[in-house]
Amino acid sequence: GSTIGIIGGGQLGRMLAMAAARLGYRTVILEPQGDCPAGQVANQHILAAYDEPNALEQLAEVSDVITYEFENVPVDAAETLNETKSVFPPPEALKVSQDRVAEKRFLAKVGIPTAQWRIVESEGDLEAALLAFDGKGILKTRRFGYDGKGQVKFTGANGESAKAGYAAIGAVPAILEAMVDFTREISVIAARDQEGNIKVYDIAENVHKDGILATSTVPVSVSSTMAGLAADAARKLLEGLNYVGVVGVEFFVLANGTLLANEFAPRVHNSGHWTEAACAVSQFEQHIRAIAGLPLGDTRRHSDCVMENLIGDDIDKVPELLKEPGAVVHVYGKAEARPGRKMGHVTRISKRL
Ligand code: ATP
Ligand code: MG
Ligand code: MG
Repeated sequence: GSTIGIIGGGQLGRMLAMAAARLGYRTVILEPQGDCPAGQVANQHILAAYDEPNALEQLAEVSDVITYEFENVPVDAAETLNETKSVFPPPEALKVSQDRVAEKRFLAKVGIPTAQWRIVESEGDLEAALLAFDGKGILKTRRFGYDGKGQVKFTGANGESAKAGYAAIGAVPAILEAMVDFTREISVIAARDQEGNIKVYDIAENVHKDGILATSTVPVSVSSTMAGLAADAARKLLEGLNYVGVVGVEFFVLANGTLLANEFAPRVHNSGHWTEAACAVSQFEQHIRAIAGLPLGDTRRHSDCVMENLIGDDIDKVPELLKEPGAVVHVYGKAEARPGRKMGHVTRISKRL
């Protein structure tokens, strides 16, 4: 048997560890938090910070291949590990995706359009950028944002202040993105193996509530041309980064038929959780296959479905959900149900194809 190292102990790490176990792999996670979702199911838990040199050495020692479940793993740590054991997706993917400026530049370079954006490093930058975008836009920290955190929306209304907005995100390096008047949001989950083969799952349509993903629905209500454009973009991205593993790419669909990329995540993605219930091979197994040098699995969908995140107190609905026919329930094992915290998800299978 061989051992897969996973940096990060959240629900994505947990689901990766479960998929790895099913294929006969051992898993070891590196995570500073003791009782964490992945720690409960992995074979081994190295309890240390993601950049602690001894811990990295230990991880490299016990792992045959190393991956990560979140995009804020320190790039230096990933690069160091990559000198002794393969780290997939490549550290370059981490580097690009953890900075919104590098990400936007990369997307442009490989021919994937995004919203217009400006670098913001001061109140003055923000004022000038807002002026260029008719007072409308979304200010986002360059780094560490997730679930809509580190963002301030400008709608062009009177009384909105660049000064207050920049202070609200902590006056850190940021970007202003032009406000996208989208009709829908979609995402694509795709994988590339070590030989360069690519497989793409069906596109999902996503609804966010308070900046957090609420539901992913498959099939989408957008045209097959649009879905095809999203899949093509994912292929360009995977090839552009010489990528190995699963990627999630988020898009805005505009009324005029334009598709703009929002961002990508170099990992399994919340909007791909439905694959566990509606495909023979889930995104989690697909990622393990890719990084372990196994052939990619079939991405065909056998059912229509809707994935709903269970956030905060939603987790109390689990006993009821378990009574629903066609509901595939997944609970992450987090001790405390804080508001806004992802506690689990349910995928409701409907029509069989
Ligand atoms: P995630 O948890 O997906 O990583 P995040 O914190 O990185 O989230 P984004 O994906 O950038 O945040 O934005 C969250 C949501 O806010 C988007 O899914 C979309 O609904 C809305 N949004 C983001 N950027 C824009 C934009 N430029 N124009 C309009 N809406 C936007
Ligand atoms: Mg993000
Ligand atoms: Mg997002």
